[in-house]
Amino acid sequence: MERTLEAKVGGAVDAWIAWLPRWKPATHRVRTRLCRRCLGSPFLKAIGLDADVPHGVQHGLTTRMKALIDDVVDEYTDQNLPVLSRELKETERRKARSYRPEVGLDPEFDGLQLDPDPVPGEPFLFTLGELAEGDGPPESVRPIELSEEEKQALRTEIRLADECADHAGRLICGFLQQHRVRAREAVAEIVEPQVTALLDALSESLDVPPTRW
Ligand SMILES: [Zn+2]
Repeated sequence: MERTLEAKVGGAVDAWIAWLPRWKPATHRVRTRLCRRCLGSPFLKAIGLDADVPHGVQHGLTTRMKALIDDVVDEYTDQNLPVLSRELKETERRKARSYRPEVGLDPEFDGLQLDPDPVPGEPFLFTLGELAEGDGPPESVRPIELSEEEKQALRTEIRLADECADHAGRLICGFLQQHRVRAREAVAEIVEPQVTALLDALSESLDVPPTRW
């Protein structure tokens, strides 16, 4: 598993670098919520992009690493955790009937806030978040009632899945360190000129000399 994961981390970093030229500095209103995936992320620390890098650029990387962990845990769950596997499939089956705007997004958008922050006095007609919540049967409606034994097994299996995710996360952090130099170079070559250009444009618009009459 380690060798494959190492190769996958390399591939994900390649994909992230290939995507970087499509990144654009956000000139729209700054979002107020902090991103839980990127704030203090051990992945960003491991690859050396935890400071002075725009959030969109960081997010494109953390999301790709999160997807790798999910793959490892899914595979492990499928092969080793029968109760959890059955429960997840059941949940998926029920959720498949409802609208989920957060599913199937490009990695750069995955995990971000679905709707922009509301502006006081300008209510939305609807939000994607509400649409997602309003559909499908409520979470409390469970078609299968678990026995005490199954509940206990499920708790154990959830713990094992968590341990598997933790283990994969640590391995990924180790592998990411091999890509520090090229990640830094890619950011310096592709991202930093855009940030500098944006800052120059901003300071020019602030430096307009007063009109002389
Ligand atoms: Zn983020």
